[in-house]
Amino acid sequence: MKMAPVEQLFTLFNETALVLQEELSCTYLEALAETGENLFNGSVLQNEVSEITFKRLEKQYKEINLDNFTKEEIRKAYQLVILKGMKENVQPNHQMTPDSVGMLISYLVDKFMKQSSFRLLDPAIGTGNLLTTVLNQLQKNVQSIGIDIDDLLIKLAYINANLQEHPIELFNQDSLEPLFIDPVDAVIADLPVGFYPNDVRASDYQLKADKGHSYAHHLFIEQSVRHTKHGGYLFFIIPNGLFESDQAQQLREFFKEEIIIQGVLQLPLSMFNNKNAAKSILVLQKKGEGIAAPKQALLVNLPNLSNAVEMDNILKKVEKWFQDNKR
Ligand code: SAM
Repeated sequence: MKMAPVEQLFTLFNETALVLQEELSCTYLEALAETGENLFNGSVLQNEVSEITFKRLEKQYKEINLDNFTKEEIRKAYQLVILKGMKENVQPNHQMTPDSVGMLISYLVDKFMKQSSFRLLDPAIGTGNLLTTVLNQLQKNVQSIGIDIDDLLIKLAYINANLQEHPIELFNQDSLEPLFIDPVDAVIADLPVGFYPNDVRASDYQLKADKGHSYAHHLFIEQSVRHTKHGGYLFFIIPNGLFESDQAQQLREFFKEEIIIQGVLQLPLSMFNNKNAAKSILVLQKKGEGIAAPKQALLVNLPNLSNAVEMDNILKKVEKWFQDNKR
């Protein structure tokens, strides 16, 4: 029986990564980056592999023609192999954004961003799964920029972008250091949550802690707002307790000065291991001349996303909100 396209690509990535992992004595995720690079270039780029492995890999790559796969098929197959690699060892803050959340963000970006062409930044691009999910869903001309501090994850993002033929501009750096990018129309980010160890850098931010380490996720919000045009939108995946922490008062003041809260969509608790790990999608707009706040922010408790009936009801409510507030 013929394999489904995603399965066929998954099998290729997985089998060739296992061979390279063994030959190069590296981790599965590192081997995955290598095999992705090979597939994109149509040749085996690692000189150190034995002749027999070289021939075997070359044969496997030749059997696949990427032109026969859609961008979404490539993204999904790549996502599945990365998930397999991440099971071995990955810290919670580096986890890939799941598809269901990516789809919701895509829907929201599409609804809020009325222009047919815009600049989009993901300052915590990781593997690129969230950003490419959004790019694949939008029928718009989007120039995108991705930043990540982790060398391996950004390499995976670079290969993801190449394989899906998305021209994403990538920067491998700390996103809280100065960014050399032009202002963007929108930001998406699955925020890394926790303390930011660099107090000197943090001291440049209004949202720095009065004492001790600052919260990275607060600084990420401020940095993103700085690089967004007036009237631009920001879509963040945030911990539910964002407005209840010991530093929440500063965040509220910052929002009052700079931001209009457009919406908070709480993800279903069933998606998370425990209540404390649960997250929401926060939609912000940077204040500017002539930019009015919505009559009421969009506040939604999302049901279990596999519950079609409840999801349908909620989406109707969301659509109604857009009709009343965003015409
Ligand atoms: N959306 C990503 C995806 O689909 O793969 C996952 C994002 S993950 C939850 C958070 C990311 O933030 C990680 O990739 C991590 O390396 C990155 N990160 C953490 N601190 C950072 C910093 N100071 N500057 C840039 N990136 C950072």
